[in-house]
Amino acid sequence: MTRLFVAGIFVCALAAAQSPFRFPTANQALYEPGQELKFFAPTAPDKPWNSGSFGCVRSDGWQMHEGLDIRCLQRDRRGEPTDPIMSTADGTVVYINKRPSLSNYGNYIVIRHLIEGLEIYSLYAHLSAIQPALRVGQAVKGGEVIATMGRTSNTGETITQDRAHVHFELNVFVNDNFPAWYKKAFPGERNDHGMWNGQNLNALDECEILLAEHSPKGGFSLLNFVRGQTGLCRVLVRATNFPYLKRYPELVLKNPVADKEGVAGYEIAWNYNAVAFALMPRAASEIKGRARFQLLSVNEAEYAAHHCRRLVVKRVGRWELTDTGLRELELLTY
Ligand SMILES: [Zn+2]
Repeated sequence: MTRLFVAGIFVCALAAAQSPFRFPTANQALYEPGQELKFFAPTAPDKPWNSGSFGCVRSDGWQMHEGLDIRCLQRDRRGEPTDPIMSTADGTVVYINKRPSLSNYGNYIVIRHLIEGLEIYSLYAHLSAIQPALRVGQAVKGGEVIATMGRTSNTGETITQDRAHVHFELNVFVNDNFPAWYKKAFPGERNDHGMWNGQNLNALDECEILLAEHSPKGGFSLLNFVRGQTGLCRVLVRATNFPYLKRYPELVLKNPVADKEGVAGYEIAWNYNAVAFALMPRAASEIKGRARFQLLSVNEAEYAAHHCRRLVVKRVGRWELTDTGLRELELLTY
């Protein structure tokens, strides 16, 4: 009896781990084949549905969109969206922006989740209203209502009523030292959101995650999903102590040579959105060249498919890190 009971708990725990994320609204049409336009809000009526999806989906493949624009299902008499926005998983509120004029996200919320040991940050943007009692530091349950869908943003182009959506992201967090780095990288520029600036959050493909965890094959693991990202390139950093290593120890690989001789740097695999998904410690004897940041290799097929972040570029037959790529490494290792 006891054994059965224990087995029952085990099955439940496994099921929860396999579908860690819920949809942030009642719209689940992503699961209806061919019904993409019921789920995604494209950038304009004549644009394809995937302009509201994740990836290099805008400006002919040259502009990144880091989230899903999930279409509105409910409106008030004036046609304004009223969909309740729900936390995608159990977590803790880490940031609430209630000054829509200070962000292209408009009013937005960031929630921290711990899933299979990985810190993942969900973000919900363009909100019209935030639950009045919601506070930073507060624990929330998956499915708990946190806000109401809206159209807030500080961009010149307003979000029209027919495009009303929630912009939803699932991110890794880059660096706690973001405010100090930002001050140095962009002297004199305002940073209104501290470390909760979108530049400090690198999104994973939310669409792939929601589809994978729903797959009849089952067995979804977020950790395996992150570890299994396709590499855009491998870079070497001559840095040995930066916050990402402590935040994501599950992504740090083993190297007996570095264990024995000491770590002099890290070889990092980046996906096309600069998510560092594998970090290999390297000993001094394994590192060629003296540069602080080195580009080791580029996956040309991946670059051909997804180049909009412009992290690397081929100049006169040679691949190199762009200023954007170098800036990402500066931030990662700051
Ligand atoms: Zn969006």
